[in-house]
Amino acid sequence: MRHYIDLTDQALLQIMLNSIEAYVLIHHKQKTSGIEMHGHFFGNTEKTSTTTRHKIEFFSADTSAKMKPDFCIPHEDCISLKSEITRCFSNYHLLGALHTHPYLEHEIKSPDQHLKFMRTIGCEFSNDDRSAFFDKLSQSGADYLIEGVFAINHRPRKSFEGDGKLDENLFEFSMGNLKCFIKIQVFSLDSGALIDVPTILKCKYLEKFSHIRFSYDFGRIKIKENNEYILEYKP
Ligand SMILES: [Zn+2]
Repeated sequence: MRHYIDLTDQALLQIMLNSIEAYVLIHHKQKTSGIEMHGHFFGNTEKTSTTTRHKIEFFSADTSAKMKPDFCIPHEDCISLKSEITRCFSNYHLLGALHTHPYLEHEIKSPDQHLKFMRTIGCEFSNDDRSAFFDKLSQSGADYLIEGVFAINHRPRKSFEGDGKLDENLFEFSMGNLKCFIKIQVFSLDSGALIDVPTILKCKYLEKFSHIRFSYDFGRIKIKENNEYILEYKP
């Protein structure tokens, strides 16, 4: 069954705020920028005879997650706690999760291949991601799992070239000199294996290219002088 996922403007903004804060700013006891972030989607689901439609109304970053440059592990009690709070204050339910793939310049080996790397590897779920999704589905017994990845890297200069829909569930977009990718995929288990279920991602804000109009004056995210591991924002 095909899944349609609608990412609202508000949820997109929340993903941007939390992902970029984790990407740029130095967090407690960390020595480098570019730590991973994990959080959850909340919203509603409607089923028709042939499709399942999800509307992501908001995104909540997991402040209890263990956030490092190469991995991010959510707290095991986070889902049950957040689901209950959401039930008390809204008619939304937990839809899924998203984590980030943050890349600093020195992590991508050939600088002229940055974009190719981000489009083909950076924005894809890793083998570790897929085995974690397999475990989640096996343990929960749910019919499907919604997972997102937000990949980001900083580039030498601003360029909106290439912005648009790369695939039916993947957007590429820019903010200043940052190149961002958002992919949301539904997974399921079939004969004991993890499979990708056809997923269509919709996001009006990105489809209308509103980010280009409003991010023109966004400053620059750059490597801090004399430290290739720390980023800073220059207005
Ligand atoms: Zn990942």
